[in-house]
Amino acid sequence: MEARILGEFRAVVGKGLITEASQLHTYECDGLTNMRILPQAVLLPTSTADVQAILRICQREKIPFVARGSGTGLSGGALPVENGVLISLARMNRILEVDLPNARVVVEPGVVNSDVTLRVASHGYFFAPDPSSQSVCTIGGNLAENSGGAHCLKYGFTTTHVLALEVVLPDGSIVHLGSRALDRPGYDLPGIFVGSEGTLGIATKVVLRIVKKPAVIQTLLAAFNSTTEAGAAVSGIIGAGMLPAAIEMMDNLAIQAAEASVHAGYPNCGGLLLVELDGPAAEVEYLMEQVGEICTQCGAWEIRVAQSDAERAVVWKGRKAAFAAVGRISPNYIVQDGVVPRTALPKILGEIERMSAAEGLRVANVFHAGDGNLHPLVLYDRRIPGQEERATELSINILRLCVKFGGSITGEHGVGAEKTAMMGEMFAEPDLETMQLVRCAFDPEHLSNPGKVFPRTRMCAERTGPYQPHPLEVAGVAQFF
Ligand SMILES: Cc1cc2nc3c(=O)[nH]c(=O)nc-3n(C[C@H](O)[C@H](O)[C@H](O)COP(=O)(O)OP(=O)(O)OC[C@H]3O[C@@H](n4cnc5c(N)ncnc54)[C@H](O)[C@@H]3O)c2cc1C
Repeated sequence: MEARILGEFRAVVGKGLITEASQLHTYECDGLTNMRILPQAVLLPTSTADVQAILRICQREKIPFVARGSGTGLSGGALPVENGVLISLARMNRILEVDLPNARVVVEPGVVNSDVTLRVASHGYFFAPDPSSQSVCTIGGNLAENSGGAHCLKYGFTTTHVLALEVVLPDGSIVHLGSRALDRPGYDLPGIFVGSEGTLGIATKVVLRIVKKPAVIQTLLAAFNSTTEAGAAVSGIIGAGMLPAAIEMMDNLAIQAAEASVHAGYPNCGGLLLVELDGPAAEVEYLMEQVGEICTQCGAWEIRVAQSDAERAVVWKGRKAAFAAVGRISPNYIVQDGVVPRTALPKILGEIERMSAAEGLRVANVFHAGDGNLHPLVLYDRRIPGQEERATELSINILRLCVKFGGSITGEHGVGAEKTAMMGEMFAEPDLETMQLVRCAFDPEHLSNPGKVFPRTRMCAERTGPYQPHPLEVAGVAQFF
C-alpha cells in the first residue's frame, strides 16, 4: 500500500495502524483457520469519527475493507481481502449507556457479549443472545452474524435484541437505523443490517434490549440410547405446547469429547438432552414434571435436575466447551452449521450416521435441538492424504441434506467466505439478485467485505433482470463459482 495512504491512515488512528507482517498474521483468518489472507494493513479506530475518516479514504482510493470484532466467526466472515484493509473494532469497547427503566443499553461494537450481562446482572437483567463464544465475541460480530445460542429458542436471536444502530456507510456517511421505541414506520432497516455479515457498512453504536432475569431456572439432563429417541423427546416437549429456555442435544462422540475436557459428569449415552426451563417457580416446577414424563416415555433411562447454580454451570460448561473439546479426540475437524425443521431431526441424524459410516469419517453432533440447528463436527486427520478433502465433501453433503429437508445452509455461523458457493443451491437467481439490489443501496462500490456471502458479485451498474452469462462462460472456457 502506498506510503501516502498509510500516512493518511496513521493520521487518523496513530499507533492503531499495523503494517508489520509478523503482526498482520494475527488477523489473517478468523475461526475458520483453513482460509487465510494477509491484509495490507490493520486499523484500530477508537471512535465513530475515526471509522468515518478511514472509510472516506477507502472510498476515495477504492480500497476494500473488512470489519472485525474478535475474529471468532466460523465461516470466514472476517477473512481479510487481498489489497484491502482490516478494521478491528476491538478498541471501541465502551458501554455508553445503561437505561434500566426502558430495559436497554447502548454499546460500542467491540463490547464483548458477556460484558453486557455482567454490567446489568446486579440489577436483575441479562442480554439474552448467548453464543458459546460469548466470553470473547463482540456485539458487532453478533449482529453481523445474527448470532444465536442455547437460549435463543425462547428469547430469539440477536435480531430480536437490536433496537437501533449507528452505521458508517462505505462512503463515510452516518445513518441511524431503527429507533429506541419498539416499533416505527418504514422498512425494518436494522433487520436488514443484522445478519448482513459486514457487507453493508460498519456498525459503530448499537442499542440493545436487555431482559429481566426469570425468578427460577431449572436444568434437566436426560440420557437416551440414541439421538433418535432424544429427538422424539424434543418433538414431544414442543408438541405439548412448552417453550423451554433451551433444548440442547449431544451425541455420544460429543459427550466423550466434552467429558474428556470439562468433566461435566454427563452419562455415557447415545443421546443426551439438556432442557432448561425458566419463569415463575410454580410454572417451572409444574412444567419440569411434564418434561421428565415425556423424556421417560421416549426412552430416557437417567434423568437429573441440577440442584444448584454451581451444578447448572457445570452442565452448561460441558455443552459450551463441546466444539473446542473435540480437538481432544481428533487432530482436525470441521465445524458445520445447518438447520432443518425440528421434526426432521431424527431422520437427518440417521442420514448423517449413514453418510459418516460410508465415508469412514467420524461425525460428532452437538446442537440447538429446539431450533433444529445442527452442528455436525466432521473429524479427520490432515496428515492422511485425501482425508481433508473427503471431510469437506462430507460436510457439504450434510448441508445439501439440510436444504433437501427444507432447512438452511447456516443457522447462526453465517455464509462468510466458506459457503458462498452453497448460496446458489439454496436461492434462485431472482432471490440473489434482490439481495444484491439491497446491497447496492448501501454499498454501490462493493468495498464493504467484498467476496463474502454471495456466489457472484453483481456490479451495481449492471443491468437488472435475469443473469446474462459472460461470453467466456457460454464458450465453456470460464465458470462462475
Ligand atoms: C468456540 C466457538 C463457539 C461458537 N459458538 C457460537 C454459537 O453458539 N452461536 C453462534 O451464533 N456463533 C457461535 N460461534 C461463532 C462466532 O463466535 C459468532 O459468529 C460471533 O458473533 C462472532 O463475533 P466476533 O466478534 O468474533 O466477530 P468476527 O468473527 O470478528 O466477525 C464476524 C462478522 O462480523 C462482521 N463484523 C464485525 N464487527 C462488525 C461491525 N461493527 N459492523 C459490521 N460488521 C461487523 C465481520 O466483518 C464478519 O463478517 C462460535 C465460535 C467459536 C469459536
